[in-house]
Amino acid sequence: MPRPVPKLSVVIPVYNEEQVLPTLFARLYPALDALGISYECVFVNDGSKDRSVALLRQQFQRRPQHTRVVLFHANFGQHSAVMAGLSYARGEYVVTLDADLQNPPEEIGKIVSMLDQGYDYVGTIRQQRQDYWWRRFLSAGMNRLRERITPVRITDQGCMMRGYARSVVTALNQTREINTFIPALASLYAMNPVEVPIGHEERYAGQSKYSLYSLIRLNFDLITGFSVVPLQLFSMIGMAVSTIAALMMITLLIRRFLVGPEAEGLFTLFAVMFFFIGLALFGIGLLGEYVGRIYAQVRERPRYIIEAVLEADGDEVAPEAPAAAAIGLVTAQ
Ligand code: UDP
Ligand code: MG
Repeated sequence: MPRPVPKLSVVIPVYNEEQVLPTLFARLYPALDALGISYECVFVNDGSKDRSVALLRQQFQRRPQHTRVVLFHANFGQHSAVMAGLSYARGEYVVTLDADLQNPPEEIGKIVSMLDQGYDYVGTIRQQRQDYWWRRFLSAGMNRLRERITPVRITDQGCMMRGYARSVVTALNQTREINTFIPALASLYAMNPVEVPIGHEERYAGQSKYSLYSLIRLNFDLITGFSVVPLQLFSMIGMAVSTIAALMMITLLIRRFLVGPEAEGLFTLFAVMFFFIGLALFGIGLLGEYVGRIYAQVRERPRYIIEAVLEADGDEVAPEAPAAAAIGLVTAQ
């Protein structure tokens, strides 16, 4: 007989977090015990190369009734890890959390109490965000862009500590999209969303797993996954540029007859040309972003490969979205 469904599942992706895991365990479990509700923690090891797996195994042995560990066969990225966690989570509510303690686990209660009030999506807004200035700057810009060109309405897109009701989790599990951005997707599925302010600290230890490159990739996922405005914008720019070019040609033709041959402003011409060549290359690249995503999607490869799942005897669950059947792209970041 499987145990009754817990009230809360906490899903945590783990990638090379040996330095933070002991402290995470020491803070997370007491915080959840203090809530006085039934819970489980679902850790997804995203192909860590350090001692993270050993630490997760240890913790599983310590608290088998409250712990489930999904082990990936390689590094498939944070969002794939969270998706896997969601499909193994059984709770009526699911809270996702980063392993690095940037979001205090003590605040999970706040999210749960909002879910108790009937909200099906609890977004978070980081108070006094503790990240490098360039990340804050870029993320403010991306937030604004996303707000303008996608239907996604979330104040702070970056923070992964969020709460979802079962209905939203089921919808997420049915999503067969690969390069996705979970909080944005969930906010679209939610019928009754709400946002709460949440504390934010510096990474407890170790380094951010995101380089500038992977941050750019992630933001492309967010924009291209939820909007085709960039493509339409290029058609618009194309039309505008052709119109201006046509007008210029007519003017030059008339001047040719009125003033005779002119050859000034050669370097201006270069500058203008290079600008448009750059723009055209960017346009092709942008098109490539969409095409690449379509390509990844049609290949129908599994989104991730699971090596093993550690769960207590009699507590085995069938994932809501079977990993092997899931469509997906295998990208190591
Ligand atoms: N993570 C992951 N796979 C990756 C990169 C990160 O599972 O390829 C996890 C990581 O262990 C952490 C969370 O995702 O729990 C967020 O990563 P990080 O704190 O490095 O990102 P940042 O806070 O800098 O955005
Ligand atoms: Mg972090």
